[in-house]
Amino acid sequence: MVKASMVCYLKLLLLLALGGVTMHVPDADVLAPLGPGALRLHGHLSFHDVAAVARDFGNRCSLLPAAVLHPGSVSDIAAAVQRVFQLGERSPLTVAARGHGHSLLGQSQTAGGIVVKMESLGGNARMQVHNGDGATTPYVDAPGGELWINVLHETLKHGLAPRSWTDYLHLTVGGTLSNAGVSGQAFRHGPQISNVNQLEIVTGRGDVVTCSPEENSDLFYGALGGLGQFGIITRARIALQPAPKMVRWIRVLYSDFASFTEDQEALISAEKTFDYIEGFVTINRTGILNNWRTSFKPQDPVQASHFQSDGRVLYCLEMTKNFNDDEADIMEQEVGVLLSRLRYIQSTLFHTDVTYLEFLDRVHSSELKLRAQGLWEVPHPWLNLLIPRSTIHKFASEVFGKILKDSNNGPILLYPVNRAKWDNKTSVVIPDEEIFYLVGFLSSAPSLSGHGSVEHAVNLNNKIVDFCEKANVGMKQYLAPYTTQQQWKAHFGARWETFERRKHMYDPLAILAPGQRIFPKASLPMSL
Ligand code: FAD
Repeated sequence: MVKASMVCYLKLLLLLALGGVTMHVPDADVLAPLGPGALRLHGHLSFHDVAAVARDFGNRCSLLPAAVLHPGSVSDIAAAVQRVFQLGERSPLTVAARGHGHSLLGQSQTAGGIVVKMESLGGNARMQVHNGDGATTPYVDAPGGELWINVLHETLKHGLAPRSWTDYLHLTVGGTLSNAGVSGQAFRHGPQISNVNQLEIVTGRGDVVTCSPEENSDLFYGALGGLGQFGIITRARIALQPAPKMVRWIRVLYSDFASFTEDQEALISAEKTFDYIEGFVTINRTGILNNWRTSFKPQDPVQASHFQSDGRVLYCLEMTKNFNDDEADIMEQEVGVLLSRLRYIQSTLFHTDVTYLEFLDRVHSSELKLRAQGLWEVPHPWLNLLIPRSTIHKFASEVFGKILKDSNNGPILLYPVNRAKWDNKTSVVIPDEEIFYLVGFLSSAPSLSGHGSVEHAVNLNNKIVDFCEKANVGMKQYLAPYTTQQQWKAHFGARWETFERRKHMYDPLAILAPGQRIFPKASLPMSL
C-alpha cells in the first residue's frame, strides 16, 4: 500500500517538475525509513497529498515535502521525530509542523522532509476548559493544532475567553505561540505568549516534555516565540477570563500624526481605558476615502457626510469597550469620558455595537469577501515591523507619503504596546524601549506586473527596511522572513547565544522548522 503510494508520489513529483513548482526531489533511499512498518501510528503518513502543504498564505514560496504526517496522537508526532533523529545527521530528512499554513515565506514547509499537519492532531488531545474557582484562574488546555476560532467557540460555552488575541482567528495555537500573537489587547495583557501557563512539547529528539514557568522552564520560555526551533507544541494551557457579550467598536480619524500617537499612548498607559486599541494609516491621494468606516454609524451623520480627506494622510484610531446587556449605560458614560480626552477630527466619530464573537472574528468576514472575488489566494508580500516609540515620528515622516504614496494594496496597521507586558525570558525579539509600535504593511499582490505586483510591494518593503537601517530606527522585524543565519544573528543580537544554546539542547540535529532558515540541518557547533 505504502509502496504504491510512493510510486504515485514519484509520478506526482515528475508532473510538478514539468509544472514548474519550486521543489526538491528526495531519492528513494531518503524515503525508505518511512516505509511500511517503520512507524506505528494512530494516524497515518501519506505521500499523495504533499502538494497541498507545499504552499502558504504568502503564496511566494513552494517546497515539496516527502510525506505528510496526519497525527492521530501526540505519540505519533514523537515517533516520527524520534525516527528522523535516529537516522542521524547524514539523513537530510527534516520535520515541519504546519498549523494552518498562514506563514508568509515557507516557514511551515520543508523541502523533501515530513510536514506534520497539526490540525489533524486527535486522539486524547481534545480541548478541555477548566472554570477555575476563587483560588485558581480559569484556563483551557488546547491542542497545538487547534484554530483560535475553535478555542473561542469552546470557551464561550463556559462564558469564558482567552485574554489576548490576533486580529484573525483562523490561525493555530502552536503557530501564533511560536511567533508571539499580537493584537489590540496586547497593551494590557501582553501578546498571546504572555498568557500561557503550560506547554506540552515534542522536542527535536522525539521526547514529550511538559513545561511551564516552574517545570522545564528553559524549554517553556524558549518555545514561546521560538519559531518552532525547539519543539512541536502539542498542547497549550491558555489563561481565560470572563467573556463579555457585546463590544462597542469605535473608529475616529486624525490628520496629525503627533496627536494620533499621543492619544494612542495615553490610552494604553491609562488605568481606566478601552479594552482593545489599534490604529491604521490611510494614504489616498485621490481624496476618496476607502472602506475604513464600512458598517459603522457616524455619531453626527450630517457633519460626517461633509468630511473629505483632501488627499491627506489620515490615521484611524480604533478602539473597543466590552459590555454586557445590563451595563450599556455605564459603557456609554465611560466611552464618553475617554473620547472627550482625545483630539480626533470631531466629525469622524463612527461606532457600532457587535457581539464579542463578531468583533473577534471580524477579519474572517473580509476573508470570505476576498475569497469570493478570488483575491485571498494571491501573493502576500507582508512586512511587519516593531518600531521604538523614540523613532516612530522619524519613521512615519519618511514612510507615509514619501516612500508610500498610497495604501491601496492593503491595510497599514500602526499601534503601540507596552514592553512591560512582554516576558524577556521568551525567544521573541522586541525593541529595547518601554513603548514600541507594531507597524504592519499587509499588502496583497494580485497582478503580475505594475502597482499590484509582488515586485512593486517588495521594492517598497525594501525601501522601508533600508531606511530603518540607515536612519538607525532601532527596528526589529516580526514574522521575519530572513534567509541566512547571518541575518538571524543580527536579528537576535545579544540573545543569539541563548537561542543557539537552546537549539543545541532541544533539537541538536536541527530537524525542526527548517523553513525558518535559521539552522541548516546538523550545522550546529558540537562544542556548545
Ligand atoms: P504556520 O504558518 O503553519 O506555522 C508558523 C511557524 O510555526 C512555522 O515555522 C511552523 O513550522 C511553526 N509551527 C506551527 N505549528 C507549530 C506547533 N504546534 N509547534 C511548534 N511550531 C509550530 N499574527 C499576529 O501576531 N497578530 C495578528 O493580528 C495576525 N494576523 C494575521 C492575519 C492573517 C490574515 C494572517 C494570514 C496571519 C496573521 N498573523 C498575525 C500571523 C500569524 O501569527 C502567523 O501567520 C503564524 O504563522 C500563524 O499561522 P499558522 O497557525 O497557520 O502557523
